[in-house]
Amino acid sequence: MHNQGWRARAACAGRSPNLWFPEGAGNSAATQEAVAICRSCPVRTQCAEYALAQPENFGIWGGLTQDDRKNLTLARPRRRLHAEPL
Ligand code: SF4
Repeated sequence: MHNQGWRARAACAGRSPNLWFPEGAGNSAATQEAVAICRSCPVRTQCAEYALAQPENFGIWGGLTQDDRKNLTLARPRRRLHAEPL
């Protein structure tokens, strides 16, 4: 299980989660506002890695929209299930 102690330092802590789970198009004003807050968040990297590892299918995590995460996941090389002998 992931250590999620980073959440206590999140810039979004105490704010409405609706901002990070906006309805409608991915480039809405709400999305842009959430992404702007994420850019200054001290745990942005941990948040993005968490979302990519789950994966989280909805919302903005680490300043990444659902489409951003999908594109990153597709661009990452897949980890091999079994290591090949040296
Ligand atoms: S990067 Fe964004 S969504 Fe993640 S913890 Fe920080 S403010 Fe919240």
